[in-house]
Amino acid sequence: MAGAVGTTAWQAWADAVDDEREAHAVRADAVARTLAARAAAVRARDARALAATLAPSAPADLVRRQHELVANLAEVPLSRWDYRPLAYDAFTLPAADGAGDRAAVAVELDYALAGFDEEPMTATQYLTFERATDGRWLLASDQDHGGGDVLLWDLGPVRVVRGRYSLVLGLRDQAALAALGAEADQAVPNVSGVWGGGWGQRTVLIAPQTADQFGTLLGADPAAFTGIAAVCTGELGAADARRTDRITVNPGAWDGLNALGRRVVITHETTHVATRAQTERWTPRWLSEGVADWTGYLGTGRTPAQTTPELGAAVSAAGPNASRLFAALPRDAAFDGGAPGTALQQAYQKSWFACRTVVERYGQPKLVALYAAVAAGGRDGTLAPDAVLDRALRATLGIGTAAFTARWRADALAALATPQARPAG
Ligand SMILES: [Zn+2]
Repeated sequence: MAGAVGTTAWQAWADAVDDEREAHAVRADAVARTLAARAAAVRARDARALAATLAPSAPADLVRRQHELVANLAEVPLSRWDYRPLAYDAFTLPAADGAGDRAAVAVELDYALAGFDEEPMTATQYLTFERATDGRWLLASDQDHGGGDVLLWDLGPVRVVRGRYSLVLGLRDQAALAALGAEADQAVPNVSGVWGGGWGQRTVLIAPQTADQFGTLLGADPAAFTGIAAVCTGELGAADARRTDRITVNPGAWDGLNALGRRVVITHETTHVATRAQTERWTPRWLSEGVADWTGYLGTGRTPAQTTPELGAAVSAAGPNASRLFAALPRDAAFDGGAPGTALQQAYQKSWFACRTVVERYGQPKLVALYAAVAAGGRDGTLAPDAVLDRALRATLGIGTAAFTARWRADALAALATPQARPAG
């Protein structure tokens, strides 16, 4: 008898597990269907169909935002918009009185801009679905999890300016976006002139209206970006050759730039886009930022002293000890900001000088070759980043890091030290 009771209990447990497994499969299926219906509604620009995927309990604000999303996307040329569920119990749901069966779903949105994204961009969303009486699982909330990515069209109606090589998506007025596009269209051929045409040769610029929006889009505190006019997503993560990185423009800092500054900034960021596929975790920041600034200032007619004013001031202040400023190439941490005074600017300017040394002594093609050699040198994962650099310098320039550092130091000091003692011109 005891055996039979045990068997029954085990059977009940097994049945319960089966039931739960089946319920989860039914739920996953239903959520996936709703996500597919939502994606189709966005692609069809059909706000009513999008709103029809909402649970009866959905707040009025969520209903309103379905219509806003479709309206905000009206001008955006999409070649892809798909949702992929990642996990069905992805976060803890807040208690809700009278709520039915709910699922906390992590979802990835894959979207692509027509003519610009060969590979889709991905954004993460955290959505709450609720089972309706008819068995469908419908969207009840997108506010139960504080995380997730915010995209430009989540913030307002997107205006679009399409240039020869650029696509500008913005919340700013048409004139501001057109000016950005013109700058981007100039930068692309300039960058290809140095780096060749083996990259996409097109850029996507994102232009929020406010510093807060800029911070929201980056998922960062905008205060950390005061004075930074633009950032490229390619600076932040691992390379994917077929992805067109976004250049996100910080409105206040951008508006404060003169024509030269705007040209340099956009060319700098475009260089990051162009070199993205060859920018690896082990690529020293002085090299990735240095080539971006080198390309940015190319053809502007600025002298080294004009290009590196903060570093020049530091050299003057250091007097006979100025060579100590060039004891070593800037470490990666020097580019994180937060250091006092002009340390960040000096790190960029030292990096520009390092690239200048490569180009002036060995020729511009060697700078491109060095960049590629560093990327290739770390791929088998056997060398530390410093060793990768040393080997790449030897392979392309015939000298190691120590000798290169000495030449960089000598070149920078010759260009910056006691300019009044050097002959004019
Ligand atoms: Zn940069």
